[in-house]
Amino acid sequence: MKKILIIHTGGTISMKEDEKTGAVQPDEKNPLHDTTPSLMNLADLHVEELFHLPSPHITPMEMLVLRNKIEEKVTKEKIEGVVITHGTDTLEETAYFLDLTVQADVPIVVTGAMRSSNEIGADGLYNLISSVKVAASDEARGKGVLVVLNDEIHTAKNVTKTHTSNVATFQSPQYGPIGIVTKRGVFFHHAPTKRATYPIERISKNVILLKAYAGMDESLFRAIQTLPLDGVVIEALGQGNLPPRAAKGVCSLLAANIPVVLVSRCFNGIVQDIYGYEGGGKQLKEMGVIFSNGLSGQKARIKLLVALEMTNEPQTLQQVFME
Ligand code: ASP
Repeated sequence: MKKILIIHTGGTISMKEDEKTGAVQPDEKNPLHDTTPSLMNLADLHVEELFHLPSPHITPMEMLVLRNKIEEKVTKEKIEGVVITHGTDTLEETAYFLDLTVQADVPIVVTGAMRSSNEIGADGLYNLISSVKVAASDEARGKGVLVVLNDEIHTAKNVTKTHTSNVATFQSPQYGPIGIVTKRGVFFHHAPTKRATYPIERISKNVILLKAYAGMDESLFRAIQTLPLDGVVIEALGQGNLPPRAAKGVCSLLAANIPVVLVSRCFNGIVQDIYGYEGGGKQLKEMGVIFSNGLSGQKARIKLLVALEMTNEPQTLQQVFME
């Protein structure tokens, strides 16, 4: 049997619904502890309770602590696969952070639940079982960090939470899942083509995410320059365009040596320097804006946080965003 480490970090999967008030909240004791012994037939399971946090309370600092814990356990205890339970709200950000920073070459699976442990149709234990199966599968190796919920296997890079409450919330727009989990086993039907990892030691920068809108002007850009600021990600319009006055705001950020990364607020496709009008992608590219390769705003922010620990040189950052 494979030696699999389960690391709990909190989220709905570790919560209970209060029968009187209906509020879903963390309990003193993680309900998953009572159910884990029933999974011992799947693998040689080892459990670590790292955090007991709702995922809106998770910051890049907790992500780094989690990364370090995984590296330590895999090296010292010869762990062959890791499953992380996590709140679904920021699950994709933690999964992508791990995808960018973990060097250990074992399957790493992140999972969660949309319904807490005592609700009808609770999906937590089911997703945990599926995730252990994936983490214990030989085929899961070398595919980067995976996200497993609702019988589907997604890459950390492409997956996103698409629905506020549906159990089929996790989707990979444009790409789809790379495999499925069934009663009889785990089946992969795609594999990611490349993965770059960055062995950072700390996470110390401040990166802000802004979303473009019709009529956006320079005022928000001016306001954020009064903050401690190391980088900005903008979810731009369409193929990578901004309203003219917002582009002026970008110009002042670049003049202050603050790197600006562009993604699209569309959730399919990539940004490119296509349009030549004022605020269009061509002008933004000439100004020195860094174009991303199809990441969502929240994932580009994670990548910029990681990249800024290595460099703030615009051309090197642009290369990192092409990887
Ligand atoms: N709000 C919860 C969290 O992210 C949602 C969940 O876990 O499904 O912690």
